[in-house]
Amino acid sequence: MKYISTRGRAPELSFEEAMLSGLARDGGLYVPAEIPRMAEADIAALAGLSYEETAFRVMRPFVGDSFTDEAFSDIIARAYAGFGHAARAPLVQLAPGHFLLELFHGPTLAFKDFAMQLIGQLFEDALTRRGERVTIVGATSGDTGSAAIEAFRGLDAVDVFILFPHGRVSEVQRRQMTTPSEANVHALALNGNFDDCQARLKDMFNHFDFRDEVRLAGVNSINWARVLAQVVYYFSAAVSLGAPQRRVSFTVPTGNFGDVFAGYIAKRMGLPIDRLVVATNQNDILHRCLTSGAYEKDTVHASMSPSMDIQVSSNFERALFDAYDRDGNAISLLMEELREGGFKVSQGAMERLREHFDSGSASEEETLATIARAQTTMGQLICPHTACGVKVAEDLRDPATPMITLATAHPAKFPDAVEKASGLRPGLPQRMADLYERPERVTRVPNDLDALETHIREKIAS
Ligand SMILES: *Cc1c(COP(=O)(O)O)cnc(C)c1O
Repeated sequence: MKYISTRGRAPELSFEEAMLSGLARDGGLYVPAEIPRMAEADIAALAGLSYEETAFRVMRPFVGDSFTDEAFSDIIARAYAGFGHAARAPLVQLAPGHFLLELFHGPTLAFKDFAMQLIGQLFEDALTRRGERVTIVGATSGDTGSAAIEAFRGLDAVDVFILFPHGRVSEVQRRQMTTPSEANVHALALNGNFDDCQARLKDMFNHFDFRDEVRLAGVNSINWARVLAQVVYYFSAAVSLGAPQRRVSFTVPTGNFGDVFAGYIAKRMGLPIDRLVVATNQNDILHRCLTSGAYEKDTVHASMSPSMDIQVSSNFERALFDAYDRDGNAISLLMEELREGGFKVSQGAMERLREHFDSGSASEEETLATIARAQTTMGQLICPHTACGVKVAEDLRDPATPMITLATAHPAKFPDAVEKASGLRPGLPQRMADLYERPERVTRVPNDLDALETHIREKIAS
């Protein structure tokens, strides 16, 4: 299996190389040269299997010979062993024909654990085999950073540094980053906002001497291995509800388009998915684009669902690549236009996108009202991201097809918004009930590239 760049001017790589390098050198994103199909009988045979066995069968064709069968299956077992639910991604029913896929039973209570836990184990195996070490640096407004730290803590071949804006993440999110005690984990509270964190991260990747010296690696949501890990739960959920005999639809609370793009890959592999519904909050660039064809940057407005507060949705480039018949030149031109503010998707490409995707957005008031209603009429406490999904799913769903809405975070991760909406303050699951008592370890850092690089050099040398 070979991987190609969406901009058509980077070398083809193996799964392992694409995973370790993250972004392609032409600025594009890696995608599989071909999407493998899964026969109907093979999908039917997933019924009743463990999540881990399903994961192995769904992901195996994408991995090629980067990992042996045995190594890959051990990696999957280790990745999901720390989840707090035997099903890993259980389904619960909200209403007739409407289901919630709970993706928050991992160590940091959000769906990003599905991908990050797997990537941690894949990196460790690949780097140990190659006798290499890397330095992972990430910027986070909350969920990604804690998921990365949980995934890489204590691994031998990796140091992990996470930059977060000082004073601007929730207490649960901060504690999840600052309480792990392993020496290879470094939480850095930057004097600045999230954009400053991202800008300094980008500066580091563009500073090639530093990048090579410390062997910088990235694990943000454009990494193909993260998308691949998320394909699995579309299969496990659809099969639980009767696929491949019965078609299902999904609604996905969306920010960077990674999660919903994984659903699209599942569909392309042969899973009978009817609609993929993109649900945004008030930052609705994707909803506007899927209705009008105009992809235009706007200012980001802080919302109750911060993990969906985005201006540009990085993984959308992968969907555009297919919609433009995999024409890398066309994508390069669109991305140049985006730098100037935006672009218009061609009519043909819009038709292809609409074959798969619907969209809707939820305002702050609608989000609160949906959290309250889910509690009183569906017996479920849901997080604000999930609420955007439930609201849009209710508006758009076809009663003849089961709808599965992805619950992307545990309500206890956003206790203030949930309490404001429902009057109930969600408690942390038992296994992390002592989070508020654990000692914190964090370094305050200035918003300055030189100082950051010096700090990272010193830490990895010690
Ligand atoms: C990251 C995140 C999202 C958005 O996922 P994308 O893959 O960026 O579209 C939604 N909800 C939660 C809780 C998240 O952490």
